[in-house]
Amino acid sequence: MGYSAEDEALIKEKWDDLLLSCTKICKNDEDWNFIKRAFFLAKEAHEGVRRRSGEPYLLHPIAVAKIVIDEIGLGVKSVVAALLHDVVEDTEYTVEDMERIFGAKIASMVDGLTKMSGVFNADTSEQAEYFRKVLLTLSDDVRVILIKIADRLHNMRTLGSMPLNKQIKITGETIYLFAPLAYRLGLYSIKSELEDLCMKYRFPQQYAEISQKLQESEATRQEFINKFNAPIIAALNRDNIDYEISGRVKSIYSIWSKMQRKQIPFEEIYDLFAIRIVFNPLPFPSAKTQCWQIYSTITDIYTPKPDRLRDWISMPKANGYEALHSTVMGPDGVWVEVQIRTRRMEEIAERGFAAHWKYKKATISQDEDEFDKWLKQIRAALNSPTESAVDFLDNFKLSLYTSEIVVFTPKGESRKMPYGATALDFAYDIHSKIGNRAISAKINHKLEPITTQINSGDQIEIITAETTHPKPEWLEVVTTAKAKQAIKNFLKRERQNNIERGQQMLEEQMKALNINLSGRVLRKIIPIYESNNKDELYSKIGAGIISLDNLDKILKSNSRNKLLKFWTLFIPKKEGDEAEEHVAAGDELSEPKPPETPQQFVIAECCKPIPGDKVVGYRDPATDNIIVHKANCDELNRLASQFGKNIVKDEIKWSQHKAMSYLVTVELRGLDRLGLLLDLATVVSGDFNINIREINIHSHDGIFEGGISLYVKDAESLQAVMDRLRKIKGIETVKRTMN
Ligand code: MN
Repeated sequence: MGYSAEDEALIKEKWDDLLLSCTKICKNDEDWNFIKRAFFLAKEAHEGVRRRSGEPYLLHPIAVAKIVIDEIGLGVKSVVAALLHDVVEDTEYTVEDMERIFGAKIASMVDGLTKMSGVFNADTSEQAEYFRKVLLTLSDDVRVILIKIADRLHNMRTLGSMPLNKQIKITGETIYLFAPLAYRLGLYSIKSELEDLCMKYRFPQQYAEISQKLQESEATRQEFINKFNAPIIAALNRDNIDYEISGRVKSIYSIWSKMQRKQIPFEEIYDLFAIRIVFNPLPFPSAKTQCWQIYSTITDIYTPKPDRLRDWISMPKANGYEALHSTVMGPDGVWVEVQIRTRRMEEIAERGFAAHWKYKKATISQDEDEFDKWLKQIRAALNSPTESAVDFLDNFKLSLYTSEIVVFTPKGESRKMPYGATALDFAYDIHSKIGNRAISAKINHKLEPITTQINSGDQIEIITAETTHPKPEWLEVVTTAKAKQAIKNFLKRERQNNIERGQQMLEEQMKALNINLSGRVLRKIIPIYESNNKDELYSKIGAGIISLDNLDKILKSNSRNKLLKFWTLFIPKKEGDEAEEHVAAGDELSEPKPPETPQQFVIAECCKPIPGDKVVGYRDPATDNIIVHKANCDELNRLASQFGKNIVKDEIKWSQHKAMSYLVTVELRGLDRLGLLLDLATVVSGDFNINIREINIHSHDGIFEGGISLYVKDAESLQAVMDRLRKIKGIETVKRTMN
């Protein structure tokens, strides 16, 4: 135990550096002593412990404390809490000790931070429940979350020494939760850095390519910026404005996102950078007026693009961001974005919440602003008893990235809605009862469908009818968490009713046929009725989607099963126990089974990996199945962030084996054309779970009709192939025959 001389030197160097930053926040001896006491306690508590990288653990809390001062702009108490943030979690010290030594405030902050570190290691529901608790402390003290973000930032900066599965889990959480949270709290540069770091670890090659291209184009870009800025600088100097002008390059992650979103190469991204003008306003006229004066000066020089003017001064963004953005036509016919803001606005943009608080205190404003409203919303959601903790987490995430529009009720009351909201969202925003009964809307006195997207300034009246009710498609129409939740609740209740009704109907039918509804019988009819499980079967019967008219025939029919080769997934045995290859030589029934079969693997719907793809497993706690995602799937990131514990640590591999399959016939009809048969065969054989027995097609008068008999593993793979067939040009109907 103890620190070596080398460690001591390293710690001293970092500690001295932190003390230098502390000069910005310490006002008296008391402040200095408070921080020093925290440092010495942390030093003693973490003594002898090292991080995975090998360096003394203490360097981590020191680094977090430094981020808290330099990059977030928090004060003495936060620095103390940052230094102590892992003490209760990792050492013998308790929250009570913290209270005794540092007082109640610090103890409650450290307690919040300790709880939060448990969030991503606990069980699913427990994890979301923890998060909910921690967010409750957020509404009391936002600093806890800000320190947690600093903690995450430092962990991301040092992620290289972590093993791959940890990297996937941590980057997943970061991209899903921490980066949006940083954005919502106004920490723009931290948000960008978190995203860049995630990309660096998850997509190292793309990251390196873009960063290299940025470097290569640096000189040309600087030359252009100088040329663009020259006349602006001359004009601002002429007007005696105290300003700074700079060219800001976009983050690598945002460049990459844009390349993907627009499907364009790096070379075609024209807005790689923006020009930023930050100035110290004179006491008069208002700062806003002075921003517009500078805008006017610039647009005297360059022509603005009218639809690209953004006034976030009159109406700040929900995260407090204020600035005037304009895109103008620069030299050589290139569009350039110009951002104009005062020093105060700049500080809020860089430091977010903390800076915002500082200015708010200075002006002693009692007005409820955007931050207050957001916190109020969170508090309300946290206290809502209808939401499960997991849903809450999803909805919370949804509330993080929104820009807002203002709309009006028929009585002229204004309501803020997120950008992209529809009339249906508005209906649910008023009340879930109105949403559930909505049939259409009068937008600015004109009748429109309930699915219409609403715009700032619209006046909206919702028309309701007793007879209508929410449909699953509505989930695609709404964008607000509130509406989504209300619709889900309704559908869940309805589905439950259908399940009960369906089960009853099936039981009655079976009784009439004098057959016992055993597990064996259920297993037989579930795939025949194209369902995946018991509940789905019952709910389809209850909803009238499945008719039981043919039940008798189906039960008597011979399913003509066959053993066929399929790809399967497995987890190779540990060390030295090399996975055996099970590619069949013949087509014999004596084929050995793959090494690990009891485990159920399910192909993820979102990214649909195919044999050969690199995959990562996620254990679904409800079914204990392993859901297999592509290694770079977005949904996987989301899951990793919420339920990181369920990510399967072991590598999952593909192998071939044999399994039972069922013969079904699919009827097709459509317009005949050249190459149709080839397209059909390609689609069917392209699916790795499908084996064709025969294809029969005959055509007359330009119409073709026919059938394909194929072996499928289950209803799901049949559904998939039918969906693909429907997409073939010319095909009009695809039906499964009941044989
Ligand atoms: Mn930590």
